[in-house]
Amino acid sequence: MSAPPLILPDSVDGSTPATLGVLGGGQLGRMFVHAAQALGYATVVLDPDPASPAGRVSERHIRADYGDAAALAELAGCAQAITTEFENVPAQALAELARTRLVAPAAEAVAIAQDRLLEKAHFARCAAQSGVAPAPYMAIETEADLAAAPAALLPGILKTARLGYDGKGQARVNDCAGLAAAWQSMGRAPCVLEQLLPLALECSVIVARGRDGQVVSLPVQRNLHQGGILAMTEVYEENVPFSQAQQAQEATMVIANELRYVGVLCVEFFVLKDGALVVNEMAPRPHNSGHYSVDACDLSQFDLQVRTLAGLPLAPPRQHSAAVMLNLLGDLWLDAAGAPRSPPWPAVLALPGAHLHLYGKIEARRGRKMGHLTFTAASAGQARAQALRAARLLGMEGF
Ligand code: ADP
Ligand code: MG
Repeated sequence: MSAPPLILPDSVDGSTPATLGVLGGGQLGRMFVHAAQALGYATVVLDPDPASPAGRVSERHIRADYGDAAALAELAGCAQAITTEFENVPAQALAELARTRLVAPAAEAVAIAQDRLLEKAHFARCAAQSGVAPAPYMAIETEADLAAAPAALLPGILKTARLGYDGKGQARVNDCAGLAAAWQSMGRAPCVLEQLLPLALECSVIVARGRDGQVVSLPVQRNLHQGGILAMTEVYEENVPFSQAQQAQEATMVIANELRYVGVLCVEFFVLKDGALVVNEMAPRPHNSGHYSVDACDLSQFDLQVRTLAGLPLAPPRQHSAAVMLNLLGDLWLDAAGAPRSPPWPAVLALPGAHLHLYGKIEARRGRKMGHLTFTAASAGQARAQALRAARLLGMEGF
């Protein structure tokens, strides 16, 4: 490793600021770029899309595929340290960059998070220490696995081991026939079958871990999903019962420590109707459920990502306002007939505590994440009340 462990923003050679690179140009990359720029860093984004949200705000944008060797060399040539915002970036690309540059998180950790089977095996190993296990599950990779699926895992959820997100690549199955049909419809790809659990609530924890092993955590986020996509995150005291919140935070630290993880890591949990805590999945990057931290905490998940990448000290983030975040999906830009329309932003922005974030995506599609709206307030009740008003103004249902 030739790169220095500490990358200060000032300058590398007396003429240009140090440059931080990111693989992936979506909204997470865009907010990483904003945080890096606030500290004075230059940024470079690698993403094939010329209109990518992060590419539009970065000093430099390399428009190429993640596996393009010349593009990776160009990225390594201009960035002192490189991170990722995109879970499915080939772990190989990170390994290639790590030959000459500081890369965080490491390819090995990203590869585990990309594969539900490796991920669950890691969680199961950590359970001995944390007391928090994944849902009962088995791997479905062959006909023999299918035939051996125990009745105890049904009804269950079949999830592709790789490339699933926002509820895509998964199917609920009630019986053996349904399981066989679902596996067929997934092209007989390697899958995980897990028991369908009775959820009381879903929550997530975001930690940042430095190269020296220091770990800091954001408060526990309570999450509501609709149609497999995060719809709302609520963060304030007692959003999740204290003992489960504390257990989730401790389990996330164990998961990060056991990976010797460097960077920002999000772990999702279920609290079951009987109060048991179950670990679901992890993302090796900032997470949609942490967007509130930009407006409600003195250090956001993106500030922490910059600090872990550059080797800067991590201070414990402090939440200064209760927060409720609503995800803004493309549906809001389309009427019932699918014709484009403009959401009523003036009315939304007139509400106290509104923080509107739009990602600069040109084309609105149903289910596409176009932005988010965070309400901050002195109390949980006020933040919730304003968020519900905004949801009504926007025609969002189900809260
Ligand atoms: P994704 O990568 O799509 O976010 P998840 O594993 O988080 O995949 O599943 C998406 C959602 O499906 C979860 O947030 C939860 O609402 C529901 N879900 C997933 N696994 C289970 C389970 N074992 N029991 C009950 N609900 C589940
Ligand atoms: Mg999930």
